[in-house]
Amino acid sequence: MTVEETLAQLVAIDSVSSRSNAEIISCLRERCESLGLQTETFPHLDENGIEKINLVASKAPSSLHAAGAVQIELALVGHTDTVPYDPAWTEALKLTEVGGKLYGRGACDTKAFIAAALTAVESIDVAQLTKPLALVFTSDEEIGCLGAKRLADAKPFTAQYAIVGEPTSLQPMRGGKGYSLAHVTVRGREAHSAYPQLGASAIFRAARLIDRIERIAEELKNAQHKDFDPPHTTLNVGLINGGSAKNIIPGECRFTLEWRTIPGQKSEHVLSLVQHAVVELKQEDGDFTCEIDAGRADDSFETPAKSHVVEFLESASGRSSGTVAFGTEAPSMMALGAEAVVFGPGNIRVAHRTGEFVPVDELNRCVKILQAAIKRFCA
Ligand SMILES: [Zn+2]
Repeated sequence: MTVEETLAQLVAIDSVSSRSNAEIISCLRERCESLGLQTETFPHLDENGIEKINLVASKAPSSLHAAGAVQIELALVGHTDTVPYDPAWTEALKLTEVGGKLYGRGACDTKAFIAAALTAVESIDVAQLTKPLALVFTSDEEIGCLGAKRLADAKPFTAQYAIVGEPTSLQPMRGGKGYSLAHVTVRGREAHSAYPQLGASAIFRAARLIDRIERIAEELKNAQHKDFDPPHTTLNVGLINGGSAKNIIPGECRFTLEWRTIPGQKSEHVLSLVQHAVVELKQEDGDFTCEIDAGRADDSFETPAKSHVVEFLESASGRSSGTVAFGTEAPSMMALGAEAVVFGPGNIRVAHRTGEFVPVDELNRCVKILQAAIKRFCA
């Protein structure tokens, strides 16, 4: 099969994150086994009771398998799920080529990388590899890298190097910011708005806290990491919701607080600054009550510029390495011991859009680069 045919086959399988990815995993498993790889699946029921599966397909010299613990030399990692598509996009599941671009849901993010990885493995004789290679296909990346996190917890292997597929226009990305999210609930006391002294406005209280949060965002600019744009940790209050009517003093106000940390700065650092602001507000207003539910704290990642996998991809792609602002599975691969780089065909700016596409030439170049990577690290 050509890389385009493989991509068409993968795009034709609807693998939106809300659905089970069992069908695409079974297709990939069959394909990997026909390439001479040993496969292992890691099924899991998500919070809606839907089966989600991670697949690890590897080729390790038999002496290593006998020893029990496989240290993978190079892992090629791709997520099988996609974001949803507009029903009006009737060709979302039908890979369509127009002017050197292949359109379809997931064509760019990230089935192109998966197709390239399979094609690269197909072109080499895996029996001749002297060091273990793995293809790792995950679930639920688009809803919080959940599949990769489960894999990192299960630790089915450790890895020396990992290339994590994401659309980077074939630029190796050796760092990424962390991602944290908290839901904040500020409480007040309801009253008739003609008699504000009888109540306490949760919205005015939330406004005071948000003003402090904006000052914290300014403070965070002092810690700089020059490889990122912007070069500091950023903060966002993206949603706010409160009150029940125009003439009622609001009893509750809720907002989301999101922060993206530069490597070297812990997620808890920002949380503790916000908690400190709450303590200060309590000193001014004894009744100030606020709950912070910090549900998510994804690590940042940074692989040294001198890492062999960074240097290899820089030379193979002809592009110097950069960093990404979006969340990836790279921190989970680092948790499995890997020096990880995010890399793949297609542009993140067209991912997640109706009409996402991958340029044919980038797809073909990705196959060549991954072939060379397998030879460089596993032959
Ligand atoms: Zn992706």
